[in-house]
Amino acid sequence: MKAIRKFIVRAVLPPALAALEELAGNLRWSWHEPTRQLFEHISPDVWREVGHDPTALLGGVDPARLEELAGDADYVAGVAALRDDLRAYLDNPRWYQQLEGEKPASIAYFSPEFGIAAALPQYSGGLGILAGDHLKSASDLGVPLIGVGLFYRAGYFSQAISADGWQLESYPLLDPDGLPLSVARRPDGSAVPVTLALPDNRTLHARIWQAQVGRITLLLLDTDIPENDDDLRQVTDRLYGGSGEHRLLQELLLGIGGARAVRRWIELSGHPEPEVFHTNEGHAGFLGLERISSLVGEGLSFQEALQVARAGTVFTTHTPVAAGIDRFPVPLIRRYFETDLLPGVNVDDLLALGAETADGAPDVFNMALMGLRLGQHANGVSRLHGEVSRRMFKGLWPGFDESEVPIDSITNGVHAPTWTDPALLALAESRLGTSNTSTADWASAAVSDQDLWTVRSTMRRAFVDDVRLRLAAAWREQNPGGIVPTWLGQVFDPEVLTIGFARRVPTYKRLTLMLHDPERLRALLTHPEHPIQIVIAGKSHPADDEGKRLIQRIVQFAADPAVRGRIAFLPDYNIAMAQLMYPGTDVWLNNPLRPLEACGTSGMKAALNGALNLSILDGWWPEYYDGKNGWAIPSADAAGDSAERDRLEAEALYDLIEHQVAPPFYDRGADGVPTRWVAAIRHTLDGLSPELSADRMVREYVEKLYRPAARSEARLSRDGYRAARELAAWKQRVSAAWPGVVVSHVESGGVAAVPQVGDELHLRAHVQLNGLQPTDVTVQVVYGRSQLGDELSDTHTADLTMARGADPDAAPDAVTGNGPFLFTGTVLLNSAGGFGYTVRVLPRHDLLVSPAEMGLVAVAS
Ligand SMILES: *Cc1c(COP(=O)(O)O)cnc(C)c1O
Repeated sequence: MKAIRKFIVRAVLPPALAALEELAGNLRWSWHEPTRQLFEHISPDVWREVGHDPTALLGGVDPARLEELAGDADYVAGVAALRDDLRAYLDNPRWYQQLEGEKPASIAYFSPEFGIAAALPQYSGGLGILAGDHLKSASDLGVPLIGVGLFYRAGYFSQAISADGWQLESYPLLDPDGLPLSVARRPDGSAVPVTLALPDNRTLHARIWQAQVGRITLLLLDTDIPENDDDLRQVTDRLYGGSGEHRLLQELLLGIGGARAVRRWIELSGHPEPEVFHTNEGHAGFLGLERISSLVGEGLSFQEALQVARAGTVFTTHTPVAAGIDRFPVPLIRRYFETDLLPGVNVDDLLALGAETADGAPDVFNMALMGLRLGQHANGVSRLHGEVSRRMFKGLWPGFDESEVPIDSITNGVHAPTWTDPALLALAESRLGTSNTSTADWASAAVSDQDLWTVRSTMRRAFVDDVRLRLAAAWREQNPGGIVPTWLGQVFDPEVLTIGFARRVPTYKRLTLMLHDPERLRALLTHPEHPIQIVIAGKSHPADDEGKRLIQRIVQFAADPAVRGRIAFLPDYNIAMAQLMYPGTDVWLNNPLRPLEACGTSGMKAALNGALNLSILDGWWPEYYDGKNGWAIPSADAAGDSAERDRLEAEALYDLIEHQVAPPFYDRGADGVPTRWVAAIRHTLDGLSPELSADRMVREYVEKLYRPAARSEARLSRDGYRAARELAAWKQRVSAAWPGVVVSHVESGGVAAVPQVGDELHLRAHVQLNGLQPTDVTVQVVYGRSQLGDELSDTHTADLTMARGADPDAAPDAVTGNGPFLFTGTVLLNSAGGFGYTVRVLPRHDLLVSPAEMGLVAVAS
């Protein structure tokens, strides 16, 4: 029999335990170990069955047990104490409240996915986990963020593996009533509506779910409501499913609907209005257009509104992989925007924002490029990814060197309280007297080598137990009604060096690099003195059969009786698995094709637990690898083809494992402790924990991006947007005149016939400004080393100063009648060797954050 309606009946808590509801309703429980223990104590079995989910626990536990606890004075006191602790956490000033100077009163953070807890599966991989960690650290630091995303009825997907190794997807539906969510309601009890006008006079309706992530409210939009036509109810069915149009609808809802939801929620909650909008990847980029549309409603022109919206927008790019960037056919965009969707915004203006540059496609609308054009402040997610992004997007700033492309970088971090194993936390508490594992003094002698080794061994053992349970469960799923073979209960050995590899399965991450030489891998797994064991997990995108074939190869290799006790693929990688896997592995393996891993955060989470990284120097690793905290797999970038590259890198990997990784793990002292290995663990915990923490990352966002963005937007908005109007007019004037801005002539002097170090080069540059004023521009000498060819390297710039107005000696400018302007300056030749220089003109305005911002430059020829 099928139900026509379903709902969850929430438990009625005994009055003495009423505060449990409050504790379950704030996702802070997901990273607050004492609160988790409080719930676990109610029933360890149910706690495990429901996947560590307090809401489900309270619904599933026997009411008699709750009555019993209500009579337990110690337990009741514990509940009250933690409720008070939560309230203090929510109310007391934290880091941000103590920051001196101006700072934004509120920041809206948009992401298509949020990975906060296993109990709220709204993520597919790294981007979502990062967004969850960003919110949690913002909460811990008191940064006033509002999170904005979508509520997917089926999340991403659940993964199972068929008997022949093929990935099977299923989409179990989530019941929001059983999740720590509540509908945003108006005082009269009705749900706060969000609507979007669609083509053919249709309307998309959404409601807003709110989740409380510590001090942060997360708003999730959901279209599965009766107001919508059936097809539109499916808009938020699942994450990254569906066709181009489905994806576009999701992104319209996230960006435009999200910005509207924020406005509605602010009106209701009295929370201050966001002064900064942070968009992650191109997916949420339409939010800038919604902001432009409302500014146009206040009487600004499109260009004026664009200045304001840009100033307050931070755009973070998360991938150098082309397939990770959303691109839509222009006709589709036209169809959706030639409607009432965005009043006051002309489709052609909008299309210009997403147009690809000279090397791109003419009929494509590119969400990342729109993100960069709509965000005055942009960054990549590791130092290397910053460089790669500057190269990737340099087409937007033609005429500038890569190093001048205005995309900065902030290296990702991970939320330590979420990702540090309770056993390691307990060690920090008992020996170091702190529950902050990222600032604990792990170098201190108060923690002995034996302590560290014991805790690492405990975590490995717990993980091996989990692996066995998961493999048995997977076997039962493949063989319904069968009896689990005994060997499955004994796979893996809690004493053997354990290597972990888990991540999504796009090709560039090279899941199967380790299978390059199966014989060699088999020998490593079954080595008589120094064996290793490998645990692998990861989901392939449902449409990616290539990825599924990679998984299949691993599963088939691992089925061989000779190795099946030492290598396994665990189905359904998720937060819950990850939380045991990172602490339980000794070595975290990462072998992407450099430089396609923008940052990678799983290795960071492993390091926080004292695992050592074995990784290609990609993402975050080149910044932090120091020779003592793990190993670098060399990249064969110069290899002839990709097969050759895989071969070289795989061989380097085998050699490292055999000769450098495994021996010190088994090199034990009389006390059984591997001293060299433990020294590396200690060094990793001590050196990397503070750096890899999301607190460090969020502080950097505040200082480098959020504060400057809020300042820019405030300056443009003051006095009825006066500066925005002036800036738009100025940009228009400068862009129109720019084709006639020319460095017509450069003279030099002051250098002997044979130049020597210490000589001063005197420059006189004649510049035609085509009607612009000298104050509108900066004239610069760019100088540096010149080797073969004309390219300058190690360049520096120095501004030239205007010597006098129109130069009376020079011929008059044909267009304006103004003579060229003369700019002069001096460069000290302070090093020997090849030297070269050129002179260029750039637009200059106080409100530009970078001289490259407008993409305009006139270089001497
Ligand atoms: C950290 C994490 C990821 C991302 O790992 P990468 O190394 O960035 O690929 C993906 N899934 C889960 C469950 C995670 O915890």
